[in-house]
Amino acid sequence: MLAGRMMAFPLTLTHILERARTYFPTHEVVSRRPDKSLLRHTYAQIHARSVQLARALDRLGVAKGTRVATLCWNHHAHLEAYLGVPASGRVIHTLNLRLHPTELGYIASHAEDEVVIVDRSLLPLFEKFRAEVKSIRHVIVYGDDGPVGDGYLDYEKVLAAESTEGYVFPELDENDAAMICYTSGTTGNPKGVVFSHRSMTLHTFMACSADCLGVRGSDVVFPVVPMFHAAAWGLPYATVMSGAKLIFPGPHLDAASVVELMAQEKVTLAAGVPTIWLGILALLDASPGKFDLSSVRSMLIGGSAAPPAMIEGFRVRHRLEVMHAWGMTEMSPLGTVAHLKSHMAELTDEQKLGYRSSQGFAAPFVECRHVDESGKILPWDGVTMGELEVRGPWVAQSYFGDDGADRFTKDGWFKTGDVVTLCAEGYVRITDRSKDVIKSGGEWISSVALENALMSHPAILEAAVFAGRHEKWAERPLAAVVFKTDKTATSDELRDHLAQSFAKFWLPDEYIVVQQIPRTSTGKFLKTKLRELYGDRLITG
Ligand code: ADP
Repeated sequence: MLAGRMMAFPLTLTHILERARTYFPTHEVVSRRPDKSLLRHTYAQIHARSVQLARALDRLGVAKGTRVATLCWNHHAHLEAYLGVPASGRVIHTLNLRLHPTELGYIASHAEDEVVIVDRSLLPLFEKFRAEVKSIRHVIVYGDDGPVGDGYLDYEKVLAAESTEGYVFPELDENDAAMICYTSGTTGNPKGVVFSHRSMTLHTFMACSADCLGVRGSDVVFPVVPMFHAAAWGLPYATVMSGAKLIFPGPHLDAASVVELMAQEKVTLAAGVPTIWLGILALLDASPGKFDLSSVRSMLIGGSAAPPAMIEGFRVRHRLEVMHAWGMTEMSPLGTVAHLKSHMAELTDEQKLGYRSSQGFAAPFVECRHVDESGKILPWDGVTMGELEVRGPWVAQSYFGDDGADRFTKDGWFKTGDVVTLCAEGYVRITDRSKDVIKSGGEWISSVALENALMSHPAILEAAVFAGRHEKWAERPLAAVVFKTDKTATSDELRDHLAQSFAKFWLPDEYIVVQQIPRTSTGKFLKTKLRELYGDRLITG
């Protein structure tokens, strides 16, 4: 064997922070405050403030490896924690502000958070679970919506007390933990995923590569996806590494606020879950020509399935390109991106949409396979459904603590819990989450396929298909539908619409009209709630 002769240079987030100061000191980070005014910082300032945060943590006696939690919207101070906390050897733990206080108390205790950086506007939420978390020693409040009251450390004062000069970030091992993020716990307790500096750095390289997200220096990146949700899909680090301009929405996530800021700051790459974009599409349709989004090169959509009708609506009516991606907290989170391959240029628009609305094919270094219930590896024929398993350098090897060992196979793969088909080209198509699968008379019915088809009906804004209990067939599909304003359709019309594309036994037994579909804290349809509300209708009804 001949050993390679290259340096074992550590892959740490510290380099990303230092690089921004060295090469892009004047490039901007823009944050929208609760009052909608904009705060502008340069990367030189973000670097200096990250140094001050690191020094403040030293002064507070916060040891290496300690968890420093954030309970914050997307803004510059959250970015400073994303950088200064891991670069100084501590571990940032992003708390999801949409969770119930009981869940937050559980998660913060489980992670043994010692320091919490919290937005002033979120203090009422924090105070609801603070007492549960015995490990908390310091609470630092960022005054997003006004001055910080007595009894708390004031983020700005804490930083101002520290010098920006002469600080050298500690040398870290690339395998040290950098961040902890909890899954939303729709199946059992939330589980902690511990990203290392190495995994995050490699994930950042991948996010910047042209055929993945292609984040580049000339971009103006707008993560609408929260920084407490799967590291905002890695965009903050990818943007800082590239020196691109970064725009943060603060707490304003409604369609009008988002679009207004996109137009004003000439955003090139925006990212968020489908709900946000469904609202934006409706707004653009209703107000043609009002917003100039000509700077936008791509809109990254993931977290749950982007309906094809939405992808096509943006392309055809507004000349906006959607980039559909799939991932999981356990994957840092990026796994697959639905780009077309070069040999697909001649396909029809419909065929192209078929690929672009799938979950895409694996990013470099992510490996995929799907298996049946006995673990047998299934063929990539575009039809056979099985559970997706993945592995790669930014995929979790285990959870924090002793949780969820059954999600990892003996031969080194992570079981995603997503039921998929894989086609010969390697494109993944999610048919369901395994816990949401509908099995009627022994046959699997894809709720996602039915939902996508329902959402292409002109009267329907959103649709969720879920399992109803049935005496003869065990389960039958039921559909919950939300109509667009001033639009409606009968059950027969919806049934006829679906019958064009699906076998008869796939068609939902009932269409239930609802005002809105219940969602999880990260914007996914909450089918357990739908089943609880309507699942017994066929048996009892
Ligand atoms: P959770 O904590 O709920 O698991 P994640 O954000 O990590 O939160 O969710 C990962 C899951 O979200 C995936 O396993 C998949 O079911 C779903 N998901 C993510 N992206 C997509 C997508 N593009 N299409 C369909 N489902 C998606």
